[in-house]
Amino acid sequence: MPDFAAPDPAAPLIVDAHLDLAWSSLANGRDLTRPVAEIRRAERRTRDNVMLTLPDLARGNIALVFGTLYAQPASLSFAQDLVSAHPGGYTTPAEARAQATAQLEQYRRWEDGGHLRLIRHLPDLDDHLRRWPQDAVPGVVLTIEGADPILAPDEFDWWWRQGVRSVGLAWTGTRYAGGTGDPRGLTLPGRELLAAMRERGALHDASHLAEEAFWEALDLTAPGALIASHSNARALLTSAGRADLPPDRHLSDDMIRAIGGRCGVIGLNLMNSFLDADWTLQGRAVPVRVRDQVARHWAYVSELVGWHSVGIGSDLDAGAGREESPEELDDAADWPRLAGAVPEEHREAVLGGNWLRVLRANLPRT
Ligand SMILES: [Zn+2]
Repeated sequence: MPDFAAPDPAAPLIVDAHLDLAWSSLANGRDLTRPVAEIRRAERRTRDNVMLTLPDLARGNIALVFGTLYAQPASLSFAQDLVSAHPGGYTTPAEARAQATAQLEQYRRWEDGGHLRLIRHLPDLDDHLRRWPQDAVPGVVLTIEGADPILAPDEFDWWWRQGVRSVGLAWTGTRYAGGTGDPRGLTLPGRELLAAMRERGALHDASHLAEEAFWEALDLTAPGALIASHSNARALLTSAGRADLPPDRHLSDDMIRAIGGRCGVIGLNLMNSFLDADWTLQGRAVPVRVRDQVARHWAYVSELVGWHSVGIGSDLDAGAGREESPEELDDAADWPRLAGAVPEEHREAVLGGNWLRVLRANLPRT
């Protein structure tokens, strides 16, 4: 059996709603069943240093994560770094599907090896939360980031049967919707895919959705099923010199209100450049800290929609690694330090309770 650190029963349980675990493993040839320290020693990287691995999640009291199936396109108008560091992206729907199914198989191998528990139904969640304090095996909810791997809307049922419980239609734009750096609305297949998701009860993840598509999608999404797993407040991220950060990557105040007004949750993305528009990997001009920028983002969003609508969606899976993370976060064991950015009476909800509420309301009973 894998060896897991014991969680701290006194600290709030943490849910992180955005980690590209299978992508991080396959794209970097990295064994995420090993501890962070071991991987760092072996890789000796100067950037994209790993932050979280499966056995280390419990060291940070991280009981549950949303794990992505993320297919990377061959070209796009932003994140050129990422594309040049990981060539071989998809140019056709079949290639996108192949990337996502390879990642699905990776999650299954981890599940078979006892390294995680996939959460497919409500009883799985209850069972997981009962067992986790003793065995510390992390729970994973599967989510598709960028829907191009779904060949057609009527294929969604197949993905649902594989355990996918959340879908973001876009990363950059896809065949289904406009996305980051690609401003357009929903396509007809996008509308049909949202209908298929709604019929099943899947969560609709609006992170990366272009603004036009976001507003078109509102009425097509079940109340209570709209989330933004890893997006921040656009109002705090205006900076003159940042052509690499399309403004639609983050949420306007009206979008934040729309998600909060439907009982959804917005996960705070913890990449430095998404916390402070003056921070760049090359320049690193400003220090980014949990107690400063992280606290400011959560305070801003909660001012608009309340503390019951905010959570964590860190994205710190080494697509963005240690070098792009707030000062206080060195690896998974430091996630409890995020509590310092939240008023004490709201800590349990923001660190995990809000995401658990959304999952309880949406996961299928059987
Ligand atoms: Zn993303």
